[in-house]
Amino acid sequence: MATRAFDARRPPEQELIDDCVHCGFCLPTCPTYVLWGEEMDSPRGRIVLMAEGLREGSRMSEAMVTHFDRCLGCMACVTACPSGVRYDRLIEATRPQVERNHRRSPLERGFRRLLFETFTHPGRLRPLLPLLAGYRRSGLQAWVRQRGMLERWPRVAMMERLLPDVRARVAFDRLPEVTPASGVRRARVGLLQGCVQRVMFPGVNRATVEVLSAEGYEVYAPRLPRCCGALMFHSGYEDEALELAKELIEAFEGCDAVVVNAAGCGSSMKDYGHVLADDPRWGERARAFSAKVRDVSELLAEVEPVAERHPLRLRVAYHDACHLAHAQGIREQPRALLRAIPGLELLEPPGWELCCGSAGIYNLLQPEAGAELGRRKVDDILSVKPEAVVAGNPGCALQISAYLSERGENIPMYHPIELIAASLANRRLDDG
Ligand code: SF4
Ligand code: SF4
Repeated sequence: MATRAFDARRPPEQELIDDCVHCGFCLPTCPTYVLWGEEMDSPRGRIVLMAEGLREGSRMSEAMVTHFDRCLGCMACVTACPSGVRYDRLIEATRPQVERNHRRSPLERGFRRLLFETFTHPGRLRPLLPLLAGYRRSGLQAWVRQRGMLERWPRVAMMERLLPDVRARVAFDRLPEVTPASGVRRARVGLLQGCVQRVMFPGVNRATVEVLSAEGYEVYAPRLPRCCGALMFHSGYEDEALELAKELIEAFEGCDAVVVNAAGCGSSMKDYGHVLADDPRWGERARAFSAKVRDVSELLAEVEPVAERHPLRLRVAYHDACHLAHAQGIREQPRALLRAIPGLELLEPPGWELCCGSAGIYNLLQPEAGAELGRRKVDDILSVKPEAVVAGNPGCALQISAYLSERGENIPMYHPIELIAASLANRRLDDG
């Protein structure tokens, strides 16, 4: 019996593949094509490989896996495609096929497992913070970097480069489970605390609660589930991701909306309805859940603001997180909210459509490409001479901060919601 590279469990759909007319309009916006100029590292080439994977007699070759692995999943090609090709649906169906039908080396499997077992567990990530703070503040980090001691291991060097400058006391920060609306209550919203977000950027979650409450929302922010599964979804670890998705759906039933402040998480949560569509028990619940998911900027831009904005005099470069701009089509809302802050000057760096190279755990799995994209992004950002940079995704914040500091630039990164919170409270940004 003839076999093929992809199995029968939700393979990429032939009709979606057939939508591609091979025009090549997406090529200049594809970061991997920009880097290497290889047809098979472009959206068009990868779609051809997907068609090959469906062909009877095909096999999952190393080369095929390499080209799929090199895709950042940034979805810039979805924005660029004039034929409306759903590359997002295609690559999301392809990744689990790779994980099921290709045997990675033990080292590769172990590394991926290590990342998931650390980053998606806030309870494991949190105890590392005092160690990281000690490493940085003791001068050990500077010593290691000066000697280039990790350069022989690009993945380890990348991990070290991305370490955020967090204070040890952050490990003890907790959000209240329920925060009442100040003034007249508009609605009750659930807030995803996230895994990396709550540990590495607790100030973003705090600012989100402050702003939502000031704008009339009661905020329900449960401690569990620990993670939405986005990092695993985007890497093809579908079964584990689906378990987390179900927990999340259950946790937020009864909320009027589910708010998220991390672009990668939001795009996955909006997709639960699609990935669980065939599940007789969860399909309808997942669809209803996804319909309620809003990025925080999306939710706030939908309503008339009630809280007063105070001036914030700052030149801010806006970075479009791919999973916000391309995967969710959210570009105008965060800009409009930032422009509504008196005194704030919003700057638009060139190359907005190109990924910064973070893309979930991409920069850790493909450190050379991640580094090159990070440096290009920082060049574009510095060209507009900002005093600060904003991005609506923790991965982008870590990546851009790392490459700004590599250039010796002491330019802070914020989430847009942190600037809005500071404006509402009339406080300086470094007042915490
Ligand atoms: S998702 Fe991004 S990296 Fe992947 S093919 Fe599309 S543009 Fe290229
Ligand atoms: S994905 Fe869209 S833009 Fe890219 S080659 Fe196919 S039809 Fe053209």
